[in-house]
Amino acid sequence: MGPVQIVATVVAALVTAVAVVLAVRAVLKMTEVIRLGRPDPERFGDQGARTVTMLRETFGHTRMLKWSVAGAAHWFVMIAFIVLSLLVLEAYFEVGSAAGHLPLIGGWAAYGFVTEWLGVFGLLGILVLIGIRLANRPARSGRSRFTGSTMWQGYFVEYVVLAVLICGFLIRGFQVATGGFAHPAWATPVSHAVGAALPAWSGGVSAAAAIKIVISMTWLITIALNVTMGVAWHRFLAFPNIFFKRNPSGAPSLGALRPMMSDGKPLDFEEADPEKDQFGVAQVEQFTWKGLLDFSTCTECGRCQSQCPAWNTGKPLSPKLLVLSLRDHAYAKAPYLLAGGGKDLTGEEQATREQLAGVNVLALAEAERPLVGGADVGGIIDPDVLWSCTTCGACVEQCPVDIEHVDHIVDMRRYQVMIESSFPSEAGVMLRNLENKGNPWGAPPNTREDWTRGLDFEVKRADSGEDFEYLFWVGCAGAFEDRAKKTTRAVATLLHEAGVDFAILGNGETCTGDPARRIGNEFVFQLLAQQNVETLNEAGVKKIVASCPHCFNTLGNEYGQLGGQYEVIHHTQLLSHLVATGRLTPVQPIDGGVTYHDPCYLGRHNQVYTPPREVLGSAVRAGSGAPSSADRAGGLVEMPRNSERSFCCGAGGARMWMEERIGKRINVERVEEALATGAKTIAVGCPFCFTMLGDGVTGKKASGAADQDVEVVDVASVLLRAVRPEDGPAAAAPVSGS
Ligand code: SF4
Ligand code: SF4
Repeated sequence: MGPVQIVATVVAALVTAVAVVLAVRAVLKMTEVIRLGRPDPERFGDQGARTVTMLRETFGHTRMLKWSVAGAAHWFVMIAFIVLSLLVLEAYFEVGSAAGHLPLIGGWAAYGFVTEWLGVFGLLGILVLIGIRLANRPARSGRSRFTGSTMWQGYFVEYVVLAVLICGFLIRGFQVATGGFAHPAWATPVSHAVGAALPAWSGGVSAAAAIKIVISMTWLITIALNVTMGVAWHRFLAFPNIFFKRNPSGAPSLGALRPMMSDGKPLDFEEADPEKDQFGVAQVEQFTWKGLLDFSTCTECGRCQSQCPAWNTGKPLSPKLLVLSLRDHAYAKAPYLLAGGGKDLTGEEQATREQLAGVNVLALAEAERPLVGGADVGGIIDPDVLWSCTTCGACVEQCPVDIEHVDHIVDMRRYQVMIESSFPSEAGVMLRNLENKGNPWGAPPNTREDWTRGLDFEVKRADSGEDFEYLFWVGCAGAFEDRAKKTTRAVATLLHEAGVDFAILGNGETCTGDPARRIGNEFVFQLLAQQNVETLNEAGVKKIVASCPHCFNTLGNEYGQLGGQYEVIHHTQLLSHLVATGRLTPVQPIDGGVTYHDPCYLGRHNQVYTPPREVLGSAVRAGSGAPSSADRAGGLVEMPRNSERSFCCGAGGARMWMEERIGKRINVERVEEALATGAKTIAVGCPFCFTMLGDGVTGKKASGAADQDVEVVDVASVLLRAVRPEDGPAAAAPVSGS
């Protein structure tokens, strides 16, 4: 060994030893912090499906590839990182010998070929990712997806990858130049080209290998000293975080909310014990361990932020910043908790002053901060952040590492509502109405059936003793809200026209409890849900068709938690089937262009994207012959944000009953996008969307920013016009606002 090799070997050995010790210490620390969370026994079942999901989402990059260029670049960088680990290992053989390589496989041409090309594509990939980060840096593009991300960490990680890849080609180049390279030119053309440009310096291999090791170990030391550096740690944490996601099958953690738990079972309020049961989350350690793993895994990529309707309309909520605040708080408070500090459910401190004597002052100060509170009290999450969420699920849908934002937000809301009674005051009216009248509007319950008046057929009641196939769940909006009532009449008319045997609960129906659950009042939700389950079971209901996606979601995904098992479909799914099977035939085409707004609780929460488009497509092309099955949804003008990336109307998460005081109105943002398509018909599949977009269009018409003939219409009303044009507007007249 020459002097260069000796120095390089010593430096590499020392820096590696330090890095390994620090990395082991960091992993132990993170494990301790994550274990502070509450138990979550439901995360361990179905390990085979979990393994498949984890492998599919990581190596298949199923979520990242939706961002095609960034996703493809990230895939190569991820694969290069895994292979790079082998090449870093190989550097320890190269540092002491110019012709060194990995034992066994290091001399194979196939190994040289694969690593060569992964290195090339990894290099291109990292340059693309650096370019994307630079193009979207906050200073350049305002509220970019990287606003609030720790930019130096992102650049650091990316430039380390770049430097390590370059070192890899330099090592190989020096080996080529000195004649010690094992692989042929056909397999490693780039390395040979680099070698042709380098001098035949034998110390070059050792120097480049040592630099590569020092850079890699500096990266390891840096992330070990920064355990909240998610942009680096996600390379390891993404695997368990995806493995333990709520749905083993891989579906996004949307649809049903996680119920409140007690002893591993959904909490029954009749048996709740305030000394033992936790009512929502008031302290960061009251999230489950999976919640704390979520916070640790965030890569700060900002995909959630870029899709969030609250963030995009100037509200203080960003799902990314919310997760980062919770993460930083958890790690800052952890020394206090690990020393035995913390409060029990009654708010009593659990450790004595003596026990906490060794805790650093920063951790003690962090422990004093309320989880939810304004800047004046040092709150971690501002109430305006918490109440801005529409629970639209865009964040969960987009997150590449499967963080479950909506569950965490609702958990914090539950404590605020049920224990602190602290929530936007205007929503209190809605909750009182739910308790007293069984509907959020406070309408007289005995007027639920009024929408049936004037129909040219009788609507069967479920308690009449007659058989029926479908229970038509009308919903509160469909029964009491003028615009939604027209949808209800259109659905009933179409079902009757198609010969579907259906019945309604009539005055026996009450609110499903969705708004109570989304605002955080699990108690009221349970009251309403148990009453409905009882009614439905007594009526022998097996199949339900719902015209409100919120009801559809709650009945289908959440009533099972309370013993109500039904086959639930949305009216657009049933209508699509009726058209496809010839039981409904559109004869009058809809002119002027149609665009469709995906309701969050139909689309993202339940992945129903195609049926409403098929219904609309059939209405647009009515009378022009049966479309091929591949083109049944043709004829629509799509908005730029559609399907999985649809933009919320602003009403979900009980926001329908709260004032929108900050930023631009979400419904106005969406209406502008819809109007920009030039379509005269803006079709919806949800009564809340109907109200929000209807109001938005009315405002635009009043200001002269929209044509007077633009209409907001439910999919069912569009179809009814195409099927029974002779009824004219009276059949289900669309309205564009009140
Ligand atoms: S659910 Fe929707 S509104 Fe709430 S944080 Fe996520 S993206 Fe934003
Ligand atoms: S999408 Fe997921 S990983 Fe990316 S910033 Fe949001 S929470 Fe973090």
